[in-house]
Amino acid sequence: MPLGFRKALREARNSATAGGDATRGVSPDRSVVLGEVEELGIGMFWATDAEGNLAFLSQRALADIGNDDDALIGKPLTDVFKDIEEEHGAATQRSLAFKLKARSKLEEQIVAVATSRGNTRWWRLNGRPLLDGDGEFKGYRGSAVDISAQYAYETQVARQSQVDELTGLANRRKLNKRLSAMLAAFRVSRRSCALMMLDLDRFKQINDTMGHPAGDELLKQVAERLTSIVGSHGEVGRLGGDEFQVLLPDMDDRGTLGELANRIVQSVSQPYLINGRRAIIGTSVGIAIAPYDGLETGELTGAADMALYSAKETHGGTFCFYTSELRDAASRTAELGDRLRDAVDKGELKLAYQPLVDPVTNEVKCFEALLRWHDSEEGDISPSQFIPVAENDDLIIRIGEMALKQACKDALAWPETIRVAVNVSAKQFIRAGYRKAVAAALQASGLPPGRLELEITESVFVGDLETVDAIFRDLKKLGVRLSLDDFGTGYSSLGYLKHIHFNKIKIDQSFVRGCTENGDINPAIITAIVALAKALGMETVAEGVEAMDELKLVKERGADLVQGYIFSRPITQEEVLEQFANGNAMFRPSGPPRHRAERISSFRKVGLIHEDHYYDVILRNLSKTGARITGLAGVPVGTDVVLDLGHGQLVVSKVVNATENSQGLNFETALTSDGSGGFMTRHRVSPYSLAEAGIPLAALGAGAFPLAKWRESNKTIPKFHQLELSMPI
Ligand code: C2E
Ligand code: MG
Ligand code: MG
Repeated sequence: MPLGFRKALREARNSATAGGDATRGVSPDRSVVLGEVEELGIGMFWATDAEGNLAFLSQRALADIGNDDDALIGKPLTDVFKDIEEEHGAATQRSLAFKLKARSKLEEQIVAVATSRGNTRWWRLNGRPLLDGDGEFKGYRGSAVDISAQYAYETQVARQSQVDELTGLANRRKLNKRLSAMLAAFRVSRRSCALMMLDLDRFKQINDTMGHPAGDELLKQVAERLTSIVGSHGEVGRLGGDEFQVLLPDMDDRGTLGELANRIVQSVSQPYLINGRRAIIGTSVGIAIAPYDGLETGELTGAADMALYSAKETHGGTFCFYTSELRDAASRTAELGDRLRDAVDKGELKLAYQPLVDPVTNEVKCFEALLRWHDSEEGDISPSQFIPVAENDDLIIRIGEMALKQACKDALAWPETIRVAVNVSAKQFIRAGYRKAVAAALQASGLPPGRLELEITESVFVGDLETVDAIFRDLKKLGVRLSLDDFGTGYSSLGYLKHIHFNKIKIDQSFVRGCTENGDINPAIITAIVALAKALGMETVAEGVEAMDELKLVKERGADLVQGYIFSRPITQEEVLEQFANGNAMFRPSGPPRHRAERISSFRKVGLIHEDHYYDVILRNLSKTGARITGLAGVPVGTDVVLDLGHGQLVVSKVVNATENSQGLNFETALTSDGSGGFMTRHRVSPYSLAEAGIPLAALGAGAFPLAKWRESNKTIPKFHQLELSMPI
């Protein structure tokens, strides 16, 4: 039988594809053989006329799809056989219509055939155009095999390997494929693309406290939010666990990317309803851009990962762009952790106290305890730097308890109307045993609980709210006061204000600083927060007031207390005691009359391009709209220059004021925020353009493109005098 069968099949093929007439009128013995082959379900035959309409279809085939001759014969072939959908792995084939029109051979063409029962079968077609003796086209002759079972299986496998089953988003494999293909194609066409890596903050906590099905539901909702924000700008995928990725072709504007990342952070941080329970998480985002931060998939994902890590380190709930400095920062963090542990062991961490003053009477009502660390090698290290490092492990618990104990002890020496505020890290707050530590500190010092205020940030509301609620209730029972710090920067959900009674709300510095600038919406925000706090019976504090005009504004808008350099910087316990010893509970405001645009002081070597010369200069300070440089002499006001801030960041500028060796520059286009307090250009000069200027791409390390090479092309005599640059060590 096998031999006979093969022969029969060969003949059937020959007749079907090599010009033999498989329609009516074939010789009887052949048609018998064909009939047998069909009967066995091995092959089916079809033919078209010269116009491309179906002229013949095997009885077996007709039975298979539950149709009779009349319904199908005479119909265009493309109506009967449909192209398959894109997503199947083999779907790279040209459409059937295209092939028929081109009169090309059909080889293993997969098509979908609708049955009269309303479902679909998949057939694999082979066929050839038939020409008569004069070379005239007579139609197609072909065979077909039903591959439905195999096709369904393959499609499922293909889908599974491309799609994340839980969320329906692209999976890691698909994302990687897309990214490599995109980078390869964009390298040729010199386009850019951005990669965002996301990692949810506190997802594990939801999983642990609410169960895995709740975690799964949460991931689905996150996926929906991400998809709706990213829309048609790019592709969202899930890498696994609580990690997501967004691929954004043709995006290199860091201003736009920062705004998008911010919207993502805000949206993901809104509360979720899961099986009737509310949950809040956050997300951190790392961003890298090709070709600037990497040309290959590995490089770019590594860069985005590093940026993500840095965003998480900062405090979560934020975004961060990749910069080459990040590479060095990772090792610095580890080193800082070791030194910090050492400093804690040796008792080198101290507390400073900053007054919270009633702006109407200038009387101090409270002092906030702020940690200070003076390292013998590095100098003063800010708590915003070392607290996140301590939060990486249990060090934060030790530091937190030490601060709590010391602050209670110190406060006892102040007049009894003055309270003390102590900062609490969210990590410390949600740990079992925190209430006990507070009770112990109160007991050890003898401070009445009503004089202790705990400053908590919105980040504690990330995670399972029921646990958080219980901690708050416990603390309230102790009689301490609760204060909501940095309000407005975190998870911007007001819902928790209804659940938990805070005594005080501290309006974040970012709303206060610069609030007097024209067109700023912050005064409106301050007014709204004050009104909300009053309605809920809470006191308000305006943080970070530095200038007189800011003080006037927050006072007018009804802030109960003011904390800021305008009244005092943080001072030592000795200084506090000295002040009270003189019978003085007042702090008088003193500071600049008006707010000045934020400038970041620095001492960084950068480049300055004028005509075809490249000079080394020192950047003394930088704001969004300008900079001050030193290192050149004889640069007249009005000169057009280009400031090279490194890594392709070129800023077209004009010299607006000048002393003998220092110049003030105004930028043609304002810089944008880098998400962590610094500034950067929205766009960078692509390494491709630099390659055109004679620097080969291969010579460019990831993210580093030395414009200084331009110096080699200096042709004319430099106009300005380059001074010797001495950098502080
Ligand atoms: P925070 O709780 O929001 O504290 C206010 C910060 O703003 C302090 O910075 C303070 O020195 C600064 N500040 C106050 N007025 C002004 C002003 O007018 N202008 C400017 N530019 N800054 C002003 P500091 O001491 O560097 O602390 C930074 C953050 O570190 C604190 O922010 C707090 O979140 C954290 N921190 C400090 N001490 C502790 C602590 O004992 N435990 C914990 N968990 N965190 C702490
Ligand atoms: Mg605070
Ligand atoms: Mg604060």
